[in-house]
Amino acid sequence: MEISVIASGSNGNCCLVEDRDASVLIDAGKSGREIESRLSSLGKSMEDVDAVLLTHSHSDHVSGAGVLSRRYSIPVYMTRQVFAEASARLRKIDARHFSLKKSFRIKDMKIRPVPTSHNVSSCGFVIKKLGVFTDTGTVTDEMKKVMPGLSTVLLESNHDIDMVIKGPYPYFLKNWILSDIGHLSNIHACGFIQEHGKNLSLALLGHLSGNNNTPEMATKTFEALVKRKFDFRVCSREKASGSWNIDGSKRR
Ligand SMILES: [Zn+2]
Ligand SMILES: [Zn+2]
Repeated sequence: MEISVIASGSNGNCCLVEDRDASVLIDAGKSGREIESRLSSLGKSMEDVDAVLLTHSHSDHVSGAGVLSRRYSIPVYMTRQVFAEASARLRKIDARHFSLKKSFRIKDMKIRPVPTSHNVSSCGFVIKKLGVFTDTGTVTDEMKKVMPGLSTVLLESNHDIDMVIKGPYPYFLKNWILSDIGHLSNIHACGFIQEHGKNLSLALLGHLSGNNNTPEMATKTFEALVKRKFDFRVCSREKASGSWNIDGSKRR
């Protein structure tokens, strides 16, 4: 199985997960054209994608989903609550629903939703030994429960707390980012991996803020705090970051 990070940041999120049996996009928060072009920069194509899964209804996760669903005649999976919030933006699509309490399948690929703490019915996903968790103000009990079983994680490392506090955002926005329903900081992402990522071999740090973080800050925090040996990579906000093999942890 392989993960390709197509876009990651507060300016748009999308990754491709491919296995023998199925290929899914997790989120589609860029325009359809942009996602197609970034996929092709990694030698991938929308033609091979079986479905789009949505973590929540915010536009940096949803904006291209409707177009891609119509253009390639593929379904979009989300909770009923996310559909209620995003339906105007998604327009006419083949919508399928899942419950946060139950795993579901796309062909033979088993997908386990993992509740996050962010927005109405927001979640991450676990597929085999891969976890994708972005947009969560705090590490949820469910995330803690699945983390020891994962070898690879795409994890939000959104901001440096000091940069948020000292930065230009209005008070209410700073409060929301730092709240339990906002975003995960570098230091909290670190702590989560340190404490629960017992079998992790690769961490892809994603959903970096353009104003409240830098790749250097995220790297510095991880190098200083995470003592255990594993690879980590800070995902790019501007282009596709690359593809990684999950099963053998062999990098490409
Ligand atoms: Zn987001
Ligand atoms: Zn969000």
